[in-house]
Amino acid sequence: MSMAGSTTNGNGARPAGPLWLLAELTYRCPLHCVFCYNPLDYTAHGAEISTDDWLRVLREGRALGAIQLGFSGGEPLLRDDLEILVAEARALGFYSNLITSGVGLNETRIRAFKEAGLDHIQLSFQDSTRELNDFLSSTRTFELKLKVARLIKEHDYPMVLNVVLHRLNIDHIEEILEMAERLGAEYVELANTQYYGWGFLNRDRLLPTREQLLRADEVTRRFRERIGDRMRIFFVVPDYFEDRPKACMSGWGSVFLTVTPDGTALPCHAARMLPGLAFPSVRDTSLEAIWYESEGFNRYRGDAWMKEPCRTCPEKAKDFGGCRCQAFLLTGDPANADPVCDLSPQHHVVTDAVARARVTGAVTAPIIFRDDRNSRALAEKKAQAASTESSGV
Ligand code: SF4
Ligand code: SF4
Repeated sequence: MSMAGSTTNGNGARPAGPLWLLAELTYRCPLHCVFCYNPLDYTAHGAEISTDDWLRVLREGRALGAIQLGFSGGEPLLRDDLEILVAEARALGFYSNLITSGVGLNETRIRAFKEAGLDHIQLSFQDSTRELNDFLSSTRTFELKLKVARLIKEHDYPMVLNVVLHRLNIDHIEEILEMAERLGAEYVELANTQYYGWGFLNRDRLLPTREQLLRADEVTRRFRERIGDRMRIFFVVPDYFEDRPKACMSGWGSVFLTVTPDGTALPCHAARMLPGLAFPSVRDTSLEAIWYESEGFNRYRGDAWMKEPCRTCPEKAKDFGGCRCQAFLLTGDPANADPVCDLSPQHHVVTDAVARARVTGAVTAPIIFRDDRNSRALAEKKAQAASTESSGV
């Protein structure tokens, strides 16, 4: 494993510890969402780490200063040691959050989670209609999610609903908000699709039009006015429609630490796609060494790695040059400015994608669901491309 031996943030200062630890417990999932942010080749990744490994990760993460803990996946409820991990999280003083599709959450388990000290449950819906919810996830789970939402309320958890928005469901935003109100949600996260993983693969089918977004924004504003403090609504415009990038992860290796199902530690859940970067595994290395010393976590800390136009830009301390994964996916070089920025020489790749979204019928490619068969085919394609490249053919 490549360890750079550096303990600085790229500008000479030692970084603070992480605040957030995201435990991606498994890539197994009963759903097959078309926008899933898991890696395309998730089936090619190694075996899941053990309960003991996770317990050690939680202890080391807390010792480094992390205070927020997310259990996600895949579907984290597929791990039958989740109750044990929740209890340990509580004992260590984490604020813990279960990020779930709801599949597998029943009366027995929710009681056990309550007893073990789980603080928060975030339940995802794909849409307000059974038809689209079930189509987008390629399952029949809408009724079950409604039941789980009631269960969460009955057990006195704050109701946090998450709905990923895109071209196919964004026009239902009013109905989605009404459903959240009926279910007694305290928080609704209308998370526009992030174009990584399966979301990127299906991007041209998922990117909304500017008109759709403006309407959704207006509907949300009116709904907020009516509902007041009873429900907090988070609606963030997708960055493809902005002219400055988001401050991705609040800066590389600065706040977030993700551990994937096979134990690979990443500065963000998508970072494994970046070429030429070795990310250590918690199987071999302590979280402390990973956070402070690994090449993977140090590479894009600070601003010494930046190229123009970011290097001399007065805004670089605000957005850190945007997202490294998006820069790689859209320009081929993770050290470029995120092309969402209109100062980037490659900004046209974003505006071209947005322009294409306006033309009805311009995209005929089939939608690709996240499932094991598709993942294996994509992993095989990636392996073939890598072997062709290395043999120079
Ligand atoms: S986005 Fe959908 S398919 Fe992906 S992990 Fe979440 S629930 Fe599963
Ligand atoms: S040039 Fe770079 S640092 Fe400046 S605003 Fe654009 S992405 Fe941010």
